[in-house]
Amino acid sequence: MSTKPLAAFDANVRLGRLANSRGPWFRGADELLAAMDELGVDRALVYGALAKESDVLRGNALLQEQIQGEARLIPCWVGIPNREPCRDLIARMREHSIPALRLFPQTSHFSIRPWCCEALAKALSEEGKVLMVDFDGPGWSNDGIDWEGIQQLCLAVPELKLVVCGVTMASPPNYEAFIRQCPNLHLEISELVSPGEIKRLVEAGLGLQLIFGSNLPKRHAGAALTMVGLENLKAEARDLILNGNLQRLLMLSEENEPVVPIREIPHFPDVVDTHVHFGGWNYSAAASGRPADTVRDMDRCGIQSAIVTSLWSCFGEVPLGNADVAEATKAFPGRIYGYLTLDPKHPDEFREQIDRYRGDPGFRGIKLHCGTHGIRLNDPQCREILEFANEKKIPLLIHEEFDLPEWKDLCLSHPDATFIVAHVGGGGPDHAPARELARLSRTVDNLYFDLAATRNFYGFLEDLVELAGPEKILYGSDHPLMDFGFELGQIFFSGIGEAEKQMILSGNARRIFKLN
Ligand SMILES: [Zn+2]
Repeated sequence: MSTKPLAAFDANVRLGRLANSRGPWFRGADELLAAMDELGVDRALVYGALAKESDVLRGNALLQEQIQGEARLIPCWVGIPNREPCRDLIARMREHSIPALRLFPQTSHFSIRPWCCEALAKALSEEGKVLMVDFDGPGWSNDGIDWEGIQQLCLAVPELKLVVCGVTMASPPNYEAFIRQCPNLHLEISELVSPGEIKRLVEAGLGLQLIFGSNLPKRHAGAALTMVGLENLKAEARDLILNGNLQRLLMLSEENEPVVPIREIPHFPDVVDTHVHFGGWNYSAAASGRPADTVRDMDRCGIQSAIVTSLWSCFGEVPLGNADVAEATKAFPGRIYGYLTLDPKHPDEFREQIDRYRGDPGFRGIKLHCGTHGIRLNDPQCREILEFANEKKIPLLIHEEFDLPEWKDLCLSHPDATFIVAHVGGGGPDHAPARELARLSRTVDNLYFDLAATRNFYGFLEDLVELAGPEKILYGSDHPLMDFGFELGQIFFSGIGEAEKQMILSGNARRIFKLN
């Protein structure tokens, strides 16, 4: 066994600016290396933004110029099948010592299936080069990956070293069907956020097929690092995922000592997750959403308390889900608290639910999932619930993409209720509304937001803290859709102060929900 300090080798990093990017980006090697130092990432496989979006030839050449002489940055060219004879591309890759080629089938409008990519895949395979495939998926539950095409390509070129980037929680049913038959198929884990999925794959003997990647600078590398770090993997399996597997694929000579050792996952004594679910959402396969399993996952990730709403209630079985939550608050006192989830479209039912759980100390707030229940928050049917929350000074967690002036009016007209906007209203750095919401929350006392499923945009938390102030931000995970560690990572690894981190991790929640 190696005694070397553990290092992280990031398979998924971009240099240069994308046209529509409002988030941070790396102008050159110096900026990228400084970020890697900060994050505890030793080496990175890097592709160029210009090569992805505009011009593979000029973009790949630009990448070469930008990272020349930097041993920690390994170049990955971007390619397009059938643009030129394969032997010409391979010859140039050989000449410039390029160990990997990245394809963007979605962005560049081609198919990954053998009829289009087999010749290129064979040429890469014969040369021992790695093929990175990135479908640049549209969302957390939709990675846009053509799994049928990937499967066909793996079977057509079995020696091809293939890495599929951006695999999300929606993919396990697809890759599960054939990953064991394709030992050269590898999954890059930046979006593989289902709780326990990485460990499940390791225990199934598939640890050699997992590759650490962050998708910097879009995503925060702290997210994937924290997820892996909290998985309780054996050191050997963890080192392979974080470093060894990619090094082996790229056939790089082993480094003696990492320049930058990996950062320890920090320990915070108190963490309260304000956005947890029981029940399942069919996209997310790994976690059960059963209370005992959730508490076990909380123990693994250092979460003291969680405030939970049932997914059954967020869909059609509102009383069934609330009963499940009520039972869990009694089975796990102090660990599990509940939101009473209500569907404003059914007044008889929500009045009965309010009566049933009135005075139950397990419930600390109300959840309105306007998204799944298909009702706007300014619909007259919501009025009675909002007035009740205002009268009883109850916090409301609300999932709705709502206009800012509407939020402002709502908060001001219900000054004794606390409004928590789930998922920062659903936006990341390319969503100006999230920033506007954060800005508004600084001036509206009873307006807060949670970080659940905001998906760790790099630099986003620092922006939110600056715009809203740390006292307006709540840690939330969206477990069991996402691992606790995924959103913890952006807080743990962010550049904000320790006191601010503690406010976001638990202080604000304990104050708002009156938890002891
Ligand atoms: Zn949620």
